[in-house]
Amino acid sequence: MEVFSDIQGLRQYLKSFHDQRKSIGFIPTMGALHQGHLELIKASSKANDITICSIFVNPAQFNNPNDLKKYPREISKDITKLEEIYCDALFVPASEMMYKEGDALNFDFGYLEEIMEGKYRPGHFKGVALIVAKLFNIVNPDKAYFGTKDIQQLTIIRRLVHELFFDIEIIPIETVRASDGLALSSRNKLLTTEERVQAVDLVKVLKEAKHKLYSGESISSVKEYVKEFFKKESVIQLEYFEIVDSEFLNDTNHFKDGKRVSLCIAGQLGKVRLIDNLSLN
Ligand code: AMP
Repeated sequence: MEVFSDIQGLRQYLKSFHDQRKSIGFIPTMGALHQGHLELIKASSKANDITICSIFVNPAQFNNPNDLKKYPREISKDITKLEEIYCDALFVPASEMMYKEGDALNFDFGYLEEIMEGKYRPGHFKGVALIVAKLFNIVNPDKAYFGTKDIQQLTIIRRLVHELFFDIEIIPIETVRASDGLALSSRNKLLTTEERVQAVDLVKVLKEAKHKLYSGESISSVKEYVKEFFKKESVIQLEYFEIVDSEFLNDTNHFKDGKRVSLCIAGQLGKVRLIDNLSLN
């Protein structure tokens, strides 16, 4: 696998592929790679001539400096994993490569930044959009792969691509889970053994809520059930539980024919913040 830490080197490497009209698949990540990330890379390898992964713990998307400091970093393990699945190239820039003094660009996604993750992590999506736009301009891929686990991020990226006319197809990949159902996340590595067991409450409640909705319970009663569950039966501090339409993430109070609905949840477990979602058809 080719590893680049500078923009010029990566651009030079990619030039011949662009010139030969080879298809390029791209997977931006923050590293500490797990099977979820690897599924994105595998999907890209299947569909494209070459696959590029990036690893960059993006300071602009962390609203909490302590969260940035303790975010897991395992670059040599990551490189081994990427080599094992035959990823073609890896881009690992330093912060100074991606951000220059005086940079002033600032995205504004309106209500998408104010709900759910945006409400609890002010500025997060501005940072996500900024880094993804920079990376898209450097790599110029045909397809880019994102996990549906971060459903709001996926929606923001789709807006970014739509409004800036990026000629990039965004491919969503289903959430990969551990055998007990917990969504894989780099942050799971920060959980204690006890917390790792407790973390499963998040998906357990999502599944129960989904079942209740399918059985005809009202949205308001399901929301109430979830709130009560976290008050009385879990050590996870619930931040939000929202039922939204899967495409625009608007709050949904009733089901409309043909509209996909997502149940989105976030909570704090000890020092670790966890998110998850399930979709209903
Ligand atoms: P991150 O390194 O957390 O920024 O994630 C990089 C990409 O991997 C994002 O598109 C995530 O949505 C995706 N991802 C993270 N966890 C999972 C998972 N469990 N299953 C599938 N994709 C995931």
